[in-house]
Amino acid sequence: MNYLWRSLSLLRPYWRSVVFMMSLVVLDSVLSLLTPWPFKFLIDYSLTDAPPPAWLTAWLGEENFRWRLLYACAATEVAIIFLYQIIGVVESYVTSRLELSIDRDFRSRLFGHAMDMSLAYHDHRRSGMLIYIINTQGGAVADLLMTLPSMIQSTIMLIGMLVVLCTMHWSLAAISLVVVPTLFFASKWYATRMRNRIRKTKELEGDALSVIHEAMSMMRVIVAFCRQKLEHRRYIDAAQKSMDARIGVTVRQTLFSLVIHMSTGIGRALAWTAGGLLALAGKLSVGDLTIVLSYIDKVYDPLETIAYTYSGWQDQFASLRASYGLLDTKPDIAEPAQPRQVEPCHGKVEFRGVDFAYEGRIGTLKDVSFTAQPGQVTAIVGPTGAGKTTLISLIPRFYDAAQGEVLVDGVNVKDLGLDDLRRHISVVLQEPLLFSMSIRDNIRYGRLDATDAEIEEAARQANAHDFIIRLPQGYDTQLGERGSRLSGGERQRICVARAFLKDSPILILDEPTSSIDSKTESVILDSLDRLMEGRTTFMIAHRLSTIRRADWILVVDQGRVVEQGRHDDLLAGDGLYRQLHDLQHKLAERKAAARKIWSDA
Ligand code: ADP
Repeated sequence: MNYLWRSLSLLRPYWRSVVFMMSLVVLDSVLSLLTPWPFKFLIDYSLTDAPPPAWLTAWLGEENFRWRLLYACAATEVAIIFLYQIIGVVESYVTSRLELSIDRDFRSRLFGHAMDMSLAYHDHRRSGMLIYIINTQGGAVADLLMTLPSMIQSTIMLIGMLVVLCTMHWSLAAISLVVVPTLFFASKWYATRMRNRIRKTKELEGDALSVIHEAMSMMRVIVAFCRQKLEHRRYIDAAQKSMDARIGVTVRQTLFSLVIHMSTGIGRALAWTAGGLLALAGKLSVGDLTIVLSYIDKVYDPLETIAYTYSGWQDQFASLRASYGLLDTKPDIAEPAQPRQVEPCHGKVEFRGVDFAYEGRIGTLKDVSFTAQPGQVTAIVGPTGAGKTTLISLIPRFYDAAQGEVLVDGVNVKDLGLDDLRRHISVVLQEPLLFSMSIRDNIRYGRLDATDAEIEEAARQANAHDFIIRLPQGYDTQLGERGSRLSGGERQRICVARAFLKDSPILILDEPTSSIDSKTESVILDSLDRLMEGRTTFMIAHRLSTIRRADWILVVDQGRVVEQGRHDDLLAGDGLYRQLHDLQHKLAERKAAARKIWSDA
């Protein structure tokens, strides 16, 4: 129920539509209450000999009264039905508009919140499940709110019918209500028993969607390992489980519907029998019996609607639990209460005694301290898994340090506005990730207000312009998902162009050439040299040959900075840097020898 109250706030921006819709609902209910009356007048005063009320004879006249009443009843019935239908059409338009608007608002709120969550949050969640929550379960809010008019209408109808019924014949009204306790307890029982089952079913449906999502994003690996059938099997298994669970829910829903129908059926039969007996005993006119029975019939419609809607809410509540669960999760990378700015940003970066561990891990980074002066190029080297990527991830606050401080221009990054901080940092990642849009728009992602000329200039600086203009559609070439339809080296050059356009004082290069052949590597390194000029740069390098321009080197091992200094000084020592250097030197010599053997052969 709490979810229902929370969801009501979504109606606030649309209060005018809500008021209008509610007026239509009331009108609709009133008209519905009026529909049996022409029929009663027809039977009582036109077809039988009951004396008509004075206002009726005054209105229709004494002459040919019965015929006139017959036509008047028919015309009134048509008028009521016509009005009823017109109101139905307007109501349907207003309702659909309102429903779709709420749906859009809530889903976009969920999506916006998911965008605000930290990488640590996303590391622990499957994207497929998030998509399911945003796209499918998010729709439950509008579904729930849209059941309210029918709930209110049914309640008005129920009260209205009961009032009319009680004034007409209270004992028949009482008999018709005998089944209400059964409906109440059946609905309550259904709601409590089904809650967990529905939640589980939705989780399984989310699982099935996650399998599709993961397979689509891993398509290259699947094709490379020829595992299409395996993935298909995984999907069939997941879909089968969710189907079985859904069937379990549907069977129970049908059984519940059977109980409701049986109860109202028994209620109707009781009222008919009691009404029939009263008519036979001459205590009720045929016209009164018809109208009483028709009202009793109409009492059951809203009763059934209320029972069904309440049981249907269980499905929506299960979805709302997931949706509000997402909204209630606070982003763990929090915006400071009073964000500070560094303007202009010179790019001095300092780590002071920084510790960090991923959830469930210990000591990913331990007591890391160093300073990078503005414009300094700092290379970070060390074995795989040492913590290099984690270390640089703390600068743009992809994660927050557990202990110690990361400072930009002397200000703790936690005190800077998130947008401001990230505006000062460009990141070029190991895997060149691009969007499925044109090359131009991909580069523009670095600075949204950049002109076409600035985009082309950035591409030139990144050594990308020449290959782009050779493409049939040049800068307007549409890329596939994640930038497919371009080679790794080409994609990376577009990422470098994006960083050129962003033009921020701090630059992070996370092994941007590690998956690229050595010929393309030199073209990219050349553009990166230009990009690094005047910027505080952190570059993680697997191959020590690529850190030729580094002013300062941090050697990281098992989460600690074990050495730092200039290339020559570190080489002169006997530490890890020297070992890595010697190892790579030997490997390079072996490769050169192998190449020579091949060329001699
Ligand atoms: P490097 O860049 O030096 O290869 P990383 O910084 O990527 O190393 O990783 C350091 C350690 O943290 C590794 O042991 C790795 O398994 C772990 N790690 C990296 N990313 C995550 C993550 N998202 N969640 C949990 N552990 C992680």
